[in-house]
Amino acid sequence: MQGLELLNTRKEGTGESVLSQEHILSRSDLELATDRKIRAISRLAYDHNPFLHRLFDSAGMNPHADVSGKSDLLKAYKKGVRTTGADVEKLYADYAPELPTIEIWSSGSSSKSKKILVSRDALIRSSRGQERRDRASGIQDGQRVLRFSAEAPHATSISSVPALFHGSPKVRTLAFHLPSLYKNVSKAEKERIARSYIDMIYEFNPDHVRGGVFAVYKFARWLVSYGLDIEKLSVKSVHLGGDPTTEEERKAIGKLWNAEPFDSYSSSEVNLVSYECHSHSGMHINESDIFVATVDPESGDDVGGNKMGRDLCTPLYEDGEMPATFFLNYSHGDNIAILEDTCPCGEISMLSTHPTRDTRKKLITGFGLDIKEQPSIVRRAARKIGRSLN
Ligand SMILES: [Zn+2]
Repeated sequence: MQGLELLNTRKEGTGESVLSQEHILSRSDLELATDRKIRAISRLAYDHNPFLHRLFDSAGMNPHADVSGKSDLLKAYKKGVRTTGADVEKLYADYAPELPTIEIWSSGSSSKSKKILVSRDALIRSSRGQERRDRASGIQDGQRVLRFSAEAPHATSISSVPALFHGSPKVRTLAFHLPSLYKNVSKAEKERIARSYIDMIYEFNPDHVRGGVFAVYKFARWLVSYGLDIEKLSVKSVHLGGDPTTEEERKAIGKLWNAEPFDSYSSSEVNLVSYECHSHSGMHINESDIFVATVDPESGDDVGGNKMGRDLCTPLYEDGEMPATFFLNYSHGDNIAILEDTCPCGEISMLSTHPTRDTRKKLITGFGLDIKEQPSIVRRAARKIGRSLN
């Protein structure tokens, strides 16, 4: 294993220029950049994470010699270099104790809660993605974004902060944490809290609303039940993410806010995967910062374009950037297809379908929107949500 000092003095190995997605004008340049970053991150992971080092060794591959880009990474996947939620606590960088890091926890809604170490470079990467996503949906400088986030130590509690030190749009954000505090408080106290939120929202007068599906639907409805009149606001767009949704659910959320709904696909582990633009022709893959492939979970084969497959995500970093947790060939267990059509908006990044999840447990129990699928579960969930919110 190399030491931190050695790592910091590594020289740029490829000699290629480093351009962000916003400055890359052709697909071929984007493909080259992706390959370069795959080389950088697979080598760094091999040198600084014993678990991934062993997986590469078992696959008979050394990233320094055998990984030149996308196709080699997919070859490694077939040979067992793959990670899932169950591996997260084996994926920290050995240099992580020498960096300032934030420890965040995934929600644990669909599996056990996972602890992820986030470095400064990972936060900067995440803010680049947020900027791309916000620009694509028309959020502009000077506007106001009302954000509902989970409480710390969950990922969304920190995800609005990087925007303050990186990039634009230069929006003003008002952030509410979700109301887990409403358990065991009196009805009068709940009403007082709801009314204070509503007054703040009126005063803030948001142009856009952002949050997880639970937040922008159930929590918003809870506020409405205490008198929030959404007609008094002029919200242009509502941005949801965190969990896969159906088109009907997105429409219901748009209708509730009287605003255009935008989906985004992200996780605590890999951050932003894809996002919608105004064309709503699919989800733009955040290609400068993540390599996304679709594979057959049985054979491990790349399924190619326009076919549904299991998601495979590798967050990308330039040579010299240092994540504190490595996700190589990481699958959320979701299903997506990468589309062969380009988007009418002119953005060069590839499109994918909206993700679907085999187990819709969280969506059903968490949000109670999915009444067609399993009515008995929804009734139980509705009672549970009623208990926690009312
Ligand atoms: Zn587009």
